[in-house]
Amino acid sequence: MPDQQGAWWYETPKEHMGSDLKDVIIIGAGPTGLACAIEAKKTHLNCLVIEKGCIVNSIQNFPVQMTFFTTPELLEIGGLPFVSSYEKPTRLEALKYYRRTADTYHLKLHLYETVLAVEGADGDFRVKTQTRAGGDCQYRSKKIVLATGYYDIPNLLRIPGEDLSKVAHYYTEAHPYYGMDVAVIGGKNSAAIAALDLYRHGARVTLIHRGRELSHSIKYWIKPDIENRIKSREIDALFETSVVEIAQEHVLLRNAGGSAWPLKNDFVFAMTGYRPDLEFFEALGIRLNPADQRPYHNKETYESGVAGIYLAGVVVAGMHTNEVFIENGRFHGEVIIKDIRQRL
Ligand code: NAP
Repeated sequence: MPDQQGAWWYETPKEHMGSDLKDVIIIGAGPTGLACAIEAKKTHLNCLVIEKGCIVNSIQNFPVQMTFFTTPELLEIGGLPFVSSYEKPTRLEALKYYRRTADTYHLKLHLYETVLAVEGADGDFRVKTQTRAGGDCQYRSKKIVLATGYYDIPNLLRIPGEDLSKVAHYYTEAHPYYGMDVAVIGGKNSAAIAALDLYRHGARVTLIHRGRELSHSIKYWIKPDIENRIKSREIDALFETSVVEIAQEHVLLRNAGGSAWPLKNDFVFAMTGYRPDLEFFEALGIRLNPADQRPYHNKETYESGVAGIYLAGVVVAGMHTNEVFIENGRFHGEVIIKDIRQRL
């Protein structure tokens, strides 16, 4: 990335090895992690962001032509205006915006570096990582912020055939599925959007949902569209029906009455939602509420039950991933960094 003089530089992980004790290490370079890093930078904390993928990796993995549900100002971080050509910004505009915020604030980012373990205790944590090239690194930090999001782990169907290459838990684009029999599983926004897009690009789409009807949480500008396509049989829909097995040339379905039958199929999109990496939290000693897997944390400061480890963004919500979005998670950084500053 360019520095203020326009010269190019990059940091090797080596720079951060050894005895250098950081004030805070933020794990995750999504909008929430970046917002935390900007707050840290503004208040002159020595901060490093470690991210196992690219910057805003989740947005990179959203559908290629995706449009956000929200207006651009609600996605802004660090007080930088997000100017979009549209009422609702596109994925490409967001990628550009977040790259720009990282450049503007000269954030220290270690990308494509995976955190393997966090050891030590409040005031002197050891963060062990592996770089893309397979090198082992270790960093010391007084505080840790977990901003790891929830888009990396799909909710699995746990049925035979789910691991076939024809099955995807992420929808990217429609073109490869022209003329194919495609099953879309799920009854909320991602399923509706994928089904419509696939249909409009010439796929034969069957939407399969375990519920009795499409969710009321589908956005008001999408719901009538999908309902009308179903009514006119342009998209087939099967409600109170589950996919119980996936094979190369069909999926096996079962309805609420217990009847089972095969449906010809080429590809499956399981749009069954995603969840945070709760196993990682438990490995760090963070306890989860058994009812909803919500990590116990201080609601005022977002500090977890493990002193010195903070939770930012959707990870505070456990399995209730529809409670925290970029729009509200982006404010966690301010609260967390304020608390960290007071306690350094
Ligand atoms: P979601 O809201 O979690 O919905 C998952 C769907 O899959 C639900 O209908 C659920 O059924 C079904 N499901 C879950 N596990 C299942 C299983 N084992 N077997 C069968 N069905 C299963 O996921 P999403 O639609 O991907 O949305 C995730 C988040 O992204 C939401 O906050 C959404 O608003 C957001 N989103 C944003 C955009 C955008 O900004 N453009 C686009 C899409 C989504 P039940 O209803 O029965 O639980």
